[in-house]
Amino acid sequence: MPLIVNLRQLEENDVVLRGELPVDELDLDTRDEMIGVTQPLRHELEVQLLDRSLLVRGSLRLTLECRCVRCLKPFKRKLELNPWVCHLPLEGEEQVPVVNDCADLTPYVREDMLLEFPWHPLCKPDCRGLEKIKAGKAKNPGGKDELIPSAWAELDKLKL
Ligand SMILES: [Zn+2]
Repeated sequence: MPLIVNLRQLEENDVVLRGELPVDELDLDTRDEMIGVTQPLRHELEVQLLDRSLLVRGSLRLTLECRCVRCLKPFKRKLELNPWVCHLPLEGEEQVPVVNDCADLTPYVREDMLLEFPWHPLCKPDCRGLEKIKAGKAKNPGGKDELIPSAWAELDKLKL
């Protein structure tokens, strides 16, 4: 269900938009391979016609499929804008495009949702990532692995 309000209808009554916006329609360009949008955006919005503007209030919810930038573990991140408030002028430079008495709220939802995206997604704030494991592995070759057999060899000599 697209996020479109009919201005004629708004002249009569406030309009409630409740439902899901499919991934294709939301069309979020995350520009980040660590963040994927696979689920629809849930919205519950009330639209009110003010004097030459629209007031939109309600909530937006979206679950992201993320991959931790440190340990590469996939995880889900829930974003919620509640309350989401958007004031859209019907005249002037910032005017909302109106086609056939209808205004599309999708671009405004898209824009504000993108601002909520994590900059560097982490599975948890103190994720230590892969660096520790790498550092541990790097120490082993030519290190303890060689020392231990030779140490045993020395002990064997002593016993003999
Ligand atoms: Zn992690």
